[in-house]
Amino acid sequence: MQENLPKMPPQAKCTRCRARAAVSLPSHNSRFCTACFLHFFRTAVTRGLKKAGPEKDTPLMVAVSGGKDSLTAWAVLDDLGFETRGLHLNLGVEGYADASRQAVADFAKSRGLPWAEYSLKQEFGYSLPEIYDILHYKICAVCGKLKRHFLNRLTARQGYSCLATGHNLDDEASRLLGNLVGDRQEFVKRQYFYLPSPHPEIPARFKPLYRLEIKEIREYCRMQDIRPVQGGCPYATGATSHYYREALEHLEEKMPGTKRGLLFNYLRKPKELGFSGGFTPCRICGQPCPAETCPVCALKKRVQDMAARRSAHAQNCNPEQPESTHTD
Ligand code: AMP
Ligand code: ZN
Repeated sequence: MQENLPKMPPQAKCTRCRARAAVSLPSHNSRFCTACFLHFFRTAVTRGLKKAGPEKDTPLMVAVSGGKDSLTAWAVLDDLGFETRGLHLNLGVEGYADASRQAVADFAKSRGLPWAEYSLKQEFGYSLPEIYDILHYKICAVCGKLKRHFLNRLTARQGYSCLATGHNLDDEASRLLGNLVGDRQEFVKRQYFYLPSPHPEIPARFKPLYRLEIKEIREYCRMQDIRPVQGGCPYATGATSHYYREALEHLEEKMPGTKRGLLFNYLRKPKELGFSGGFTPCRICGQPCPAETCPVCALKKRVQDMAARRSAHAQNCNPEQPESTHTD
């Protein structure tokens, strides 16, 4: 699969200004010099903002993992003049978490931007590796759910009303395809690049890079000297989203513009984005949620029950060694 934008013949000209082209964008049928590519990139974000999004004077929390997408989202929003603050959730994955955190810290320092860091272990009681050791399955779905909820909660806790994330066109198109294949109409209906706040304690959600492809974001990082964490999360293997992404990439290679067509044709359809159900406080943590118990507390109970069952099983199998015996 092609990781970067195609190489440029030396005589190629920029579609916009006729200077020497630096990048080729087959899905736009265009070639750009560096300055025009940066213009194209920022215009893609402002074009989204014109359709829907936060007002220019809304202070934005930007969820930053340390990867290329979220650092780029932060950079562009800062360039466009938004007041921003980074929000990083440390998942506790050995090695990867430190490198991710460092990428966020370095980027924030290079631009003099404020950011806040929280740890999943402190917020939830378990780090991602600890959850994986106990549950052993669907860790990407569990991680996605935890990130979604905690990033919302932490944004509200910091007094912000809108959270921006780094989701790009490839993320959105492959998610749409997965939801269509699985006929998950509830998710299909609510997939949009701007979701207004459904409750005073739940922020609006905004995806400034939804019109931009991974390859374009990678190029933007290179041109702007943004240095994201290298490699991916070691737990993110076998996630089904990868298969949809690969399938779309295959179609894109044969028919440039397919991903864009799929997503934008869908986004053009009229939508009802308001949350239809009501909210009540979770009976355990008090967070507003549509059920009696919020998804985070429900998940925590599942993890705790599973851990208790495992330790009871271990004791039954090995009654000579009570669990409280430590040998250090
Ligand atoms: P992912 O779920 O890894 O595809 O990430 C989607 C978006 O969620 C990223 O572009 C970030 O904006 C945000 N995000 C993911 N992981 C973190 C994290 N550990 N801390 C803060 N934001 C994150
Ligand atoms: Zn709860």
